[in-house]
Amino acid sequence: MHDDELPRSIDIGRLAAGEHAWTGTLSGDSLPRIHELGGHAREVAGSITLTVGPSHPGCRGDCQAVVTMDCERCHSPVSLAVEGAFDLIVVDRIAEADAYDADTPVVVAPRGWLDVATVLEDEIILGLPLIPMHEDVNCDGGQRQFGPADEPTPVRENPFQVLESLKRDDSGETH
Ligand SMILES: [Zn+2]
Repeated sequence: MHDDELPRSIDIGRLAAGEHAWTGTLSGDSLPRIHELGGHAREVAGSITLTVGPSHPGCRGDCQAVVTMDCERCHSPVSLAVEGAFDLIVVDRIAEADAYDADTPVVVAPRGWLDVATVLEDEIILGLPLIPMHEDVNCDGGQRQFGPADEPTPVRENPFQVLESLKRDDSGETH
């Protein structure tokens, strides 16, 4: 069942009272904002359960994706396993969210249409690291710790050594 395609959107108004669950994947084409952030995901896997009853529907589930981004340290691609979980109240309009306290996470489903792709994409984006990097701190060969390798160390003549060699020349001449 896990290879099934998730619906990109669900018409909650057509669902009977009770719980409705989906498990499957959505292709990366459904995740344009991850792409805009410089990431690439072939697909996102997830499960979503809608609870329909007398009050606002509930929408809970989880999702996983492997997102490839450019490592900030070595600038080569790094694959990041990202997970997310959500437990949301579905409202028709954001104004309806006022009925709940500010900490209650809500998702707006205009005219009862829940955008599943957006819900999953939001969670994956929240799970992305602020600065994508390989786990190996030396993925760039440790270049940053030692500075540019081809920069010569400035050599300054020691004035006392210069003085010493002059003295020796003097003693040589007086002989
Ligand atoms: Zn790296």
